Amino acid sequence: MTKAEVLRRVAGAAADGPLSGARTVLPSASATTTLRPATRVGRGTPGGFWAERSRINRDVSLLVAYDELERAGNLAYFRAVIAGGDRVVETAAALNDQYVYNIFDSDVYKWLEAVGYEAAYVLDPDLAARSDDVIGLIERAQRPDGYLHTAIQNGVGREPLHEWRLGHELYCGGHLLQAGIAWHRSVGDDRLLGVARRFTDWLLTELDNFDPKILPLHPGLEMALVELFRVTDDRRYLELAATFLNRRGHGNIGYYNFSPEYFLDERPVRQSEAIRGHAVMALFLLCGVVDVAVETGDASLLAVAERQWTDMVQHKTYLTGGVGSRHHGESFGDAYELSPDRAYCETCAAVGSVMLSWRLLLATGEAKYADLIERVLYNAVLPGVSLDGRRFFYVNPLQVREADQVVGIEGCHIRTPWFECACCPPNAMRILSTVEEFLATGSSEGVQIHQLISGSACFAAAGSERTVRVDSALPFGEQVTVTVTDAGDEAEWTLALRVPSWSLTSRVQLIMDGSATTDLTPGQDGYVHITRVWAAGDAVRLAVDNTVVMVEADPRIDACVGHLAIARGPLVYCVEEVDLHATRLENIRVDARGPWTAEPAAALDGIVSLVGKGSSVTPDPGDGLPYRAARGSSPVVQPLRITAVPYFAWNNRGPTAMKVWLPIERAV
Ligand SMILES: [Zn+2]
Repeated sequence: MTKAEVLRRVAGAAADGPLSGARTVLPSASATTTLRPATRVGRGTPGGFWAERSRINRDVSLLVAYDELERAGNLAYFRAVIAGGDRVVETAAALNDQYVYNIFDSDVYKWLEAVGYEAAYVLDPDLAARSDDVIGLIERAQRPDGYLHTAIQNGVGREPLHEWRLGHELYCGGHLLQAGIAWHRSVGDDRLLGVARRFTDWLLTELDNFDPKILPLHPGLEMALVELFRVTDDRRYLELAATFLNRRGHGNIGYYNFSPEYFLDERPVRQSEAIRGHAVMALFLLCGVVDVAVETGDASLLAVAERQWTDMVQHKTYLTGGVGSRHHGESFGDAYELSPDRAYCETCAAVGSVMLSWRLLLATGEAKYADLIERVLYNAVLPGVSLDGRRFFYVNPLQVREADQVVGIEGCHIRTPWFECACCPPNAMRILSTVEEFLATGSSEGVQIHQLISGSACFAAAGSERTVRVDSALPFGEQVTVTVTDAGDEAEWTLALRVPSWSLTSRVQLIMDGSATTDLTPGQDGYVHITRVWAAGDAVRLAVDNTVVMVEADPRIDACVGHLAIARGPLVYCVEEVDLHATRLENIRVDARGPWTAEPAAALDGIVSLVGKGSSVTPDPGDGLPYRAARGSSPVVQPLRITAVPYFAWNNRGPTAMKVWLPIERAV
C-alpha cells in the first residue's frame, strides 16, 4: 500500500478493521499455542462502554499525547538529529546525561503504535497528518547504517551501545519494532517497519563486539523481536530474542543503584520461581519468555512464565489487579505485602499484566488468564486515564488519605496531563486501542469468548469464516448476547463462553429462532460449551449475577484485616470523601450486611454508584500519641449513608480522599 493510499484510508470515512486481524500478538502457524487470535476483529456499536473508552482514547488522548510529546521535547530530539550542526550540541547540553531522556524515544514509538492500531478503523485527519509527519521524522533521523537513538545521536562523545545499560537503546528499540509492526498489520504501511528492521539488522552486526554480553536492561525488545520474526519469517530475530533471555541472570548488568535482583539478573530465567524486581521489567520479560517458548515449542520455558504468573496472582496482586507494592524501585514486594495506601500499581505494570495474561491464555487456553485480564482492564488500566481522556495516573494507590496528599515520585493524589517520565500514558493508549482483540479466540474446535465486552471476531475455518458478535451491557448491566453472524461451513463446531467467576449465579441459554432453549451449565474449565451445526442468527444469552459482593482479604494481608471492599460484577468500588457531607473519610465504618442500591453517580455521567449504610465514628481526642487504652474509649458514633463509585472512575470530581478497603462497622 502506498503512503497516499494509507493516508486516504486512515483519514477516510470508514475502514473495516485491521488487515491482519490480531495486531498485537500473532503467533506463527507453527507456534505451540492452544488458541489463536481472531483473523478479524471489530468494535462494539458506538456508545457502548468499551467503544466509548476507545473513542475517547482516539479522539482525545492520542491528540493530547501528541501535544505533550511536542511540549516535552520528545519530537524535538528527532528534529535535532536531522538538523545536526550546532543544534546537536545545544540539545546535548539539555540532555545532560539524564536518565529520563534515554527513554524519550520510546514514548514517541508507543504513541505511534497506538495510532497505528487506530488506523485500522478510522483516524481524525489531524491525527493522520501528525502521525505521518512523525514517521517521516523517524525515517530521517535514522543513521544510514540503521542506528537510531536520539539521546545518543544528540550527545557528545558517546558511542552507540557503550552505555547499553541505562542508555536504553535496546528498550527503545523494542518499542520501535512494535510501532512498525502495528502499522504493518493494521494498514500495510511498512515505512516504520523498514526503520525497525534496519535498526535490528544493525544490532545483529554490532552485538558480538561487546563484552560483557549485552542484553536489554529493561526488557521489551525480546517480545518485539519475536513479533518481528512473525512478520518477516526471519529466524535471526527469534534467535536473538532467545539469546537475550539466555544472557539474563549472569550478573552482566551489575549494580546500578539497585541490585541484580531488581534487574532480574541474579539468576537465569529458567531457574526463576518467584516473580520479583521491577514490576514492569518482570512482566515485559515474561511476555518475551512466553513468545519464545511457543515459537520454539519449549514447554519448560513456558512453565517459567506460568509459575511466576501464579506467584504474582496468589501473593502479590491487589484487589484491583494492580501490581507493584513498593515505590522504591517500582517493584514487587514480599508475599502479601499489599498495603492499600502504599500501593504503587504503576499503570504500565497493569498493561504488562494484560499483555502477559493474553499470551498465557493463547498458550494454554485456561480461563484464569481471561479472569485476570478482565479484572486488570477494568480496575487497573482504566483508572490510569481520566474519564475525559486528558489526564493520567502513573501510580494507582487503593487509598489516598488527604485531597492534597503527595506520595512517591509521581504524585498519585490527582491525575496530571503528563509526566517527566511519561511511560504510562502511551502504554495505556496502546491497550485501549486494542481491547477488542481480547474478546475471543479460535481453535480447530471452534470459537471461545473470553471477555464479555461488545465487539466482533472472525476466524478462518476450512476455507470459510466463523464470525460472532457480542452485545454486552456490562459492566453495569447483566445481559450478554453472543450471536453467530456467519456460521462458516456446515460442520459442527463448539462455541465456548466464559462465565465469569465473580458471578455467583448465572443463566446461560441457547437462542434459536428467537426462542430460548434449556439452561446450560458451565464446565469445570469456567466455560459453557455448545457444540452443534450453527446457523447465522443463532445466539447464546448470558445473564450474569451483578449482586454486590463484600470482599475480604486473605488475613495475611495485614493492612486489610478488619476491612471489606465492595465489588459489583467485574468492578471494584471505592468511597470518595467528596461523596461524604458530614464526616471525614477516615471516620467511616461500613455496614457489611447492606443492602446496596444502584443509583446514577453524582456528576459522573453514565457511571453507576452504590448507596449503602454505615456509620461515622469520631474518636476520642486523646492527649498526645494517636493511641489509647481500648477499654474505656468512647467515640461519637452517628449513622451514615455511604456512596461508593467504581474505582476506575475515582478522582474525576477534583482532589479527594479515597478508600477501597473500608473498616467494618462494629459495636464499640
Ligand atoms: Zn509507566
